[in-house]
Amino acid sequence: MAVGSSNSFDLVVLGAGTGGYSAAFRAGQLGLKVALVDEAKIGGTCLHTGCIPTKAMLESADLYDKIRHAADFGIALTDPRIEFATIATRRQQVVDRLTKGLMSLVKKNKVEFIRGRGTLQSAKKVKVAKLDDEGAPAGDIVLEGTDVIVATGSRVKSLPGLTPDGERIVTSDDVLRSETLPKSLIIVGAGAVGVEFASFYRDMGVEVTVLEYLPAIVPLEDADVSKELERSFSKRGIKVMTNARFDPASVTSDERGVCVMVGKEGEKPQELRADQMLVATGRAANTDGVGLENTRAKVEKGMVLVDHRMRTAEPHLYAIGDIIGGLWLAHVAAHEGICAVHSIVGAEAEKVDYVKMPRATYSRPQIASIGLSQAECDRDGLPTKVGKVPFGAVGKALIGGDTEGFTKVIAHRETDEILGVHMIGPHVTDLIAEASAAMLFEATAWELGAAVHPHPTLSEGLGEAALAVDGRSINF
Ligand SMILES: Cc1cc2nc3c(=O)[nH]c(=O)nc-3n(C[C@H](O)[C@H](O)[C@H](O)COP(=O)(O)OP(=O)(O)OC[C@H]3O[C@@H](n4cnc5c(N)ncnc54)[C@H](O)[C@@H]3O)c2cc1C
Repeated sequence: MAVGSSNSFDLVVLGAGTGGYSAAFRAGQLGLKVALVDEAKIGGTCLHTGCIPTKAMLESADLYDKIRHAADFGIALTDPRIEFATIATRRQQVVDRLTKGLMSLVKKNKVEFIRGRGTLQSAKKVKVAKLDDEGAPAGDIVLEGTDVIVATGSRVKSLPGLTPDGERIVTSDDVLRSETLPKSLIIVGAGAVGVEFASFYRDMGVEVTVLEYLPAIVPLEDADVSKELERSFSKRGIKVMTNARFDPASVTSDERGVCVMVGKEGEKPQELRADQMLVATGRAANTDGVGLENTRAKVEKGMVLVDHRMRTAEPHLYAIGDIIGGLWLAHVAAHEGICAVHSIVGAEAEKVDYVKMPRATYSRPQIASIGLSQAECDRDGLPTKVGKVPFGAVGKALIGGDTEGFTKVIAHRETDEILGVHMIGPHVTDLIAEASAAMLFEATAWELGAAVHPHPTLSEGLGEAALAVDGRSINF
């Protein structure tokens, strides 16, 4: 237990995003005296400019889509309209409510939340330039921690030569502050963030073009999933250009919009114009300005290096979340935070298994996956067998009027161990949790298929796909 001045803690956590607050709460539960420092409100990227506000907007888009098809369900509606300002207000209400909830957990877990910008003076000392509730300077303090966790997260990143101006060339941060819609939009980058916004804006009636440098959209997903999403997007009128090449420095913008010369690799570039360009090309870890240079922690390619227990090269200094790179997901940051705290208290620290981390994308159709893709199995020389069942064969999908997509289970051909599960379709971001439990328990495809899936539910797609691995599917 920390003794001495009120500025001495067992644990100081720098950054109160998903990783930082999860670590702080777990440490509080274990009886540690914890300081949690953030220059902004608790919650970080996920709560304020990431997962939560985007999903609140996508929920409105899904509802609007359902309403547009209300007549198919026997419900006559006239003149449904989008009121984007209300979508933006609701988005903020959801964020505010969750922020309040987190502050009550700060209290419950007896964590001291300190608002201010922190800098490591050494591995165990964090200088905090405190801020009051209005964000005005409120003096400096130095916190001493027996252990320190750095969880300063990440920020938006553009392409070299392409500078967002917040008006015509925008980032996810900008659009999440906006209360208006463009008429047309070019989205650069077709990872999870890019395709979520593409889906949302298309539902809002915006003309959307997606530019992806690689040969497939959602390039980290199984190739079948990428193809299915591209097919679905094209059907909805979202223009997708893969293998897209343009010179970022040649993008021009004026009061009429943005203009870019873009073409497929090896083809003559064409002029593309839109009201706005949304740059969704990834994130940069917040490793600078944190004082890491005052410690022995190593930073490589802009990310802090840690071992499997989240320890940096400096004893008692840990790093978690986006700042260490990897999957750049909120639940990954949370698990890393808990792993770090368990390392600190000497408990059995469960290793973070990155292969068994579920990944979810909330476009329409939704995408969810865990484990290895077919290409990764082939790369690793793993013999596979595959079960794939379309949602069109699942009664509940038909009931919901949403039959796009499929569930694909990849199992080891000899041992039957589940190697990967890939889903695209209705509510798959929730359904993937079952695959996550199955992989944690090292289940075989047979075991997953033998587990009873209630009828009629969307979960039957996963059960049937697991059975289909050995040709045992009953309904497909
Ligand atoms: C548009 C978008 C959508 C996303 N959607 C999803 C999703 O659906 N699901 C998902 O799992 N992930 C999603 N993510 C990713 C997710 O938000 C991040 O992986 C997650 O927030 C990382 O958590 P973290 O704790 O590492 O860092 P962050 O959440 O970035 O938190 C870092 C905190 O540190 C603070 N900080 C930084 N430097 C200092 C300093 N020197 N002093 C004091 N405080 C400091 C910051 O203010 C911030 O609060 C999305 C991201 C974006 C951008």
